[in-house]
Amino acid sequence: MRNNRIRSKGVLIFVSMLVLLFTMDGICENADLQIKKSKKISYKVQELKKSAVNRVEELSGVLSETAKSIWNYAELALEEYKSSQQLGELMKKEGFQVEFGAGGLPTAFVATYGTGKPVIGILGEFDALPGISQKAGSTKQEAVKEHAPGHGCGHNLLGVAGAGAALAVKSVMEKYGIAGTVKFFGCPAEETVEGKTYMAKAGVFSSLDVCLDWHPSDENEVNLNSSQALNSFEVVFRGKTAHAAWDPWNGRSALDAIELLDTGINFLREHIPTTVRIHYVINDGGGAPNVVPAYAKAWYFVRGKDRQEVESTYARILKIVQGAALMTETTSEVRLKTGVYNYLKNRVVADTLYSNLQSIKGPVFTEEENDFARRLQKELGVKDTGLADTVKLMKEPLPFVSGGSTDVADVSWLVPTASLNIACYPLDIPGHHWGVVSCTGSSIGMKGMLSASKVLSATALDMLTNPKLIEKAQKEFKEKTEGFTYKSAIPDGQEPPVKK
Ligand SMILES: [Zn+2]
Repeated sequence: MRNNRIRSKGVLIFVSMLVLLFTMDGICENADLQIKKSKKISYKVQELKKSAVNRVEELSGVLSETAKSIWNYAELALEEYKSSQQLGELMKKEGFQVEFGAGGLPTAFVATYGTGKPVIGILGEFDALPGISQKAGSTKQEAVKEHAPGHGCGHNLLGVAGAGAALAVKSVMEKYGIAGTVKFFGCPAEETVEGKTYMAKAGVFSSLDVCLDWHPSDENEVNLNSSQALNSFEVVFRGKTAHAAWDPWNGRSALDAIELLDTGINFLREHIPTTVRIHYVINDGGGAPNVVPAYAKAWYFVRGKDRQEVESTYARILKIVQGAALMTETTSEVRLKTGVYNYLKNRVVADTLYSNLQSIKGPVFTEEENDFARRLQKELGVKDTGLADTVKLMKEPLPFVSGGSTDVADVSWLVPTASLNIACYPLDIPGHHWGVVSCTGSSIGMKGMLSASKVLSATALDMLTNPKLIEKAQKEFKEKTEGFTYKSAIPDGQEPPVKK
């Protein structure tokens, strides 16, 4: 009896394993099976992706409404209370666990669905830019409110598309019983490159196996280019005020110190690598010409191809600060606001995004939308080519990086990460511009956002169902980061500049 029981138990286990393998193959849990039965598997993965795409379509109303609301709120960095609340509430309503306050930032949140490995992260942003308020769908510059902020970088679309992708992935995970975790990160203050920097320092991304990102653009593409590392810092000089004509010899000008610092920096330019860029503004240079300014403040960016280049240039600038203070008999104070890495693109993640972009494709725009795009291009003095209607070929990365910095870069040194670009405004129009605000509040931007959701969700499903892909992405990541330890540029103990 006993033996028979064991035998029948054995048969039962064998049959159960067969059933399990049969049901698992459709969701690519088993890498060997995937190779042996690739046709069948790829059909099933296609089915999952189709289901995600359909879910994005079903959600298109609520996603567009949310993006429109965030466009209307147009909240600046670290003030995105309404935007992050609305997006967080949407995730909560759809069954995600939502925690606000990630990294000590009240407008940051993490929305989680599922349990266990793998853990797929999707990034979202929602901050606006100052002074570029603009009516949606207009080809002429017309502010909704003069000098108010506007979504000139399309972050109203960025956050919502990421959230939409996470929601679509959840619905497929539920329907097909897929294991793992999807995390959507509501990341504030990208425009000031502070949000993800504080979040990264606090370990918010530490549980991820891979991370997906996207950005509204004029093209549909996945590129392997890096971004510039950056230090953003303020310098304050304090001197002694005096009547500028009556007794100037009693004054010690803080503005003189700023000007000497800037002169020193401009001489330094000849003796730094050509990949370094330094820019500055003087925020406060005194109140009136006839008063020797006792206080002056300027704000600087140092960018370079990597942290090492930024840090070595920054150290040299600190010496010039001391020199300027010495020459003017003032005191100086330097505050490092934030600093980011260069973007370490993961090729495996990028390839997966690209292959999904090729099959799902970018948004399909109407003749009316293209006509609008051409009129806007004419107004802005660029060639009237309309909107991108193809997927740009993915090329080898450019050897020289220029064109800015992003706090996504810090995430990319912690976990294999890559980004997608989707057309949300006409080709060649300038970024951070009222022309972009006009598009990100109109149907053109909304269509781009939905395309991004679809490509991101399909890529997340590839990652969730194919362990080999994650293994490959992590192997590449380990090779590229060998001997590297992430060190945030933000000084220990520094609180984020949240207005209380
Ligand atoms: Zn942006």
